[in-house]
Amino acid sequence: AHVICEPCVGAKHRDCIAVCPVDCIHPKLEEDQGEVMLFINPDECIDCGACVPACPVAAIFIEQDVPPQWQGYIEKNRDYFALD
Ligand code: SF4
Repeated sequence: AHVICEPCVGAKHRDCIAVCPVDCIHPKLEEDQGEVMLFINPDECIDCGACVPACPVAAIFIEQDVPPQWQGYIEKNRDYFALD
C-alpha cells in the first residue's frame, strides 16, 4: 500500500484525494485542530501511484520506500482505519 507521512501534517492540500481512483484517502479531523492530516486505507489502496506526484509536499510513498524517520506512519495509517 501507499503511506502518507509527516509532510502532510497540517498541510491541507487534498490533491491526492482528487486523483485516487478508489477513494481510499481520508482526512483525520480533530475537534480542536480541524483537519490534521490525510490517511490512506492500506486495505483499499491498489498501489496505482497516482497520489505520489499529486502531493505538493511529497508526503506519500509506497510502503517499502517510506524513509526511515517516517516508518511510524505505516502503523499510523493502519491504526487510523483500525486495521491490525
Ligand atoms: Fe489511491 Fe493509488 Fe494513492 Fe493508493 S496509490 S492511495 S489507490 S491514488
